[in-house]
Amino acid sequence: MQVFPRISAFRAARKKLPADARIGLVPTMGALHRGHASLVKKSVAENDFTIVSIFVNPTQFGPNEDFEQYPRDLDKDLALLDELGVDMVFTPSTTEIYPETSHFYFEIHQLADRLCGRSRPGHMNGVVQVVSILFHLCEPTHAYFGLKDYQQCRIIEHLIRELHFPLKLVPCSIVREADGLAFSSRNVYLSAGQRRDALFLYHTLRQLKKNFAQFQTVDELQAFVQAQLPRYPLVKLDYFEVLHGKTLQPLTELHNGEHVHAFLAAFLGQTRLIDNMRLDK
Ligand code: AMP
Repeated sequence: MQVFPRISAFRAARKKLPADARIGLVPTMGALHRGHASLVKKSVAENDFTIVSIFVNPTQFGPNEDFEQYPRDLDKDLALLDELGVDMVFTPSTTEIYPETSHFYFEIHQLADRLCGRSRPGHMNGVVQVVSILFHLCEPTHAYFGLKDYQQCRIIEHLIRELHFPLKLVPCSIVREADGLAFSSRNVYLSAGQRRDALFLYHTLRQLKKNFAQFQTVDELQAFVQAQLPRYPLVKLDYFEVLHGKTLQPLTELHNGEHVHAFLAAFLGQTRLIDNMRLDK
């Protein structure tokens, strides 16, 4: 496994790969866990070469968010990636990726109006910016993204299509801990009590899915979620939304065969966690 902190050496090595090779890219912010590992394993299994990027992208963090505190453990990450059979790891510094203040800003129509796009202003712009840069530098044929960040996946699907990046998006299922909490690099911030109450996200989504036939309106779903909150005193709800799973637009009807998708974001102290689940099947 080769590790490249510099763009120049990385690009030179990338150019040496055969032109017809299938090349998988797994973009990450490091602090790797089993969720990341599942993307990497899939890429290693499906491609001739796998590139993993580790870059905590400052432009996708808001001014009051956790960019500085975000967990970083490069040695541990590299040991795991080596074990998983990764070929190249791209580990650029901030100044390597952003040598000057950016003069460009992506305006994302509709797809970023809700969910994390609304609750973290500028976040999706930063994601689209860094993913575009990584696509240009890594030139993958396949890019692996987790459905835990469902809105991100949908936006990147459009980015690839509309900017004609010659690659295929491979969306990957959410990986959960034994009790259902979705793996997240931010889970390490949680105290024991917060970790218990963090199950609000998974438990609520699972209940909504299980009882989906009994709900007739989005308001009823909303009321159900609100009614769960007293059992999880450390949870502060950021958003609960139920949207069309493809368009990410509001639904007027729950049971007409459309893809109904529920999204939750919640704070446990300063830690913000997200989760989502398809409800109709
Ligand atoms: P991050 O390092 O948080 O930016 O995540 C890098 C990639 O891993 C993104 O495509 C995430 O959606 C994906 N990912 C993170 N957590 C999980 C998880 N629990 N299950 C599946 N994919 C995940």
